[in-house]
Amino acid sequence: MLCRLLHLFRLLLHAVVRYTASMKRSEKAPPIETVAALRTGRTTANGSSVDLTTVERVQAMVLGWYAAHARHFVWRVPNPDPYVVLVSETMLQQTQTARVQERLPSFLQQFPDFTALAAANNATIVRAWQGMGYNNRALRLRDCARAVVDRFAGKLPDTADDLRSLPGLGPYTVSAILSFAFHRDVIVLDVNVQRLYSRLFLNLQTTLDVMPEAQLLQVATEVYPRGRSSEWHQACMDIAAEFCTARSPRCLFCPIAKACHSAFGLAEAAPPHVSEPSYRGKPNRIWRGRIIELLRDLGPDQTMALAELRNRLFVTEEEPDVPWLENILRALERDGLIEREQATDRIRLHS
Ligand code: SF4
Repeated sequence: MLCRLLHLFRLLLHAVVRYTASMKRSEKAPPIETVAALRTGRTTANGSSVDLTTVERVQAMVLGWYAAHARHFVWRVPNPDPYVVLVSETMLQQTQTARVQERLPSFLQQFPDFTALAAANNATIVRAWQGMGYNNRALRLRDCARAVVDRFAGKLPDTADDLRSLPGLGPYTVSAILSFAFHRDVIVLDVNVQRLYSRLFLNLQTTLDVMPEAQLLQVATEVYPRGRSSEWHQACMDIAAEFCTARSPRCLFCPIAKACHSAFGLAEAAPPHVSEPSYRGKPNRIWRGRIIELLRDLGPDQTMALAELRNRLFVTEEEPDVPWLENILRALERDGLIEREQATDRIRLHS
């Protein structure tokens, strides 16, 4: 009985999706002029490439949804500490939001401000980074804190030029800080927002398609409501994360489906396989992470014999394990993550 009900429910759901899709395609809604203009390189009569009427409608939909459904994070408060914004944005670059949400409070407890972070040595900061992966980020963040202390008296500067002069801050992080920490009117274009804009304003065919960069910049510049950059971009990030996902967009539940040119029409496509240096079937970055994990468990004054490290990694002393491991260790040394006592063949986290 339950199976039959489930089957009927699935049939009903598919029928609703098909019906909504056909309605969407036959709506003959006036094209968003932005898209036509950008595609053909034309501009509208008033010199703008965006149909402002449509944009206002999109803005109302996005911000209306956000007012009721915004995700809550430790770093998302009305007037966030610029230091917390920098730390969270650095963590979020290659780590999932749930993990950052979990790890950020203890990191901030240990390093409450730029001065505390600047004083940390390599081993201390790498230990505090546990569970985040990509440990080089931790060192870059600490180096940035040292520059903020040395050159800006421990206060994060609030201009694009000064932020760009700090080590490790790329264009995305600079704009995120200006928008989220200092409420400046700037565009914030991460990969999620790029995906959302592309699908929203173009009739795309597959989940891999994106708007060309020049068009994206133009749309991004015109679409966000002035004075509300922070709120707008965080709203777009939430919608992208919750509905407009990379592989399987959930158009049926999406709050902006009625304005979206790609709604219900995207064919799922697998991203091309990107090969990376690997050994014994695992990427080298996983091996690097394992080595750091093993050394992180040591006390501050302890070292580990290379032979023990090999055993714990399940690699042998035979070729080709030896030269491969040597290369990995040399790279970790170069990055400032480990140090090695050549005479005793023992290693530890870099102090
Ligand atoms: S309707 Fe679908 S494709 Fe359009 S923004 Fe929403 S989830 Fe993405």
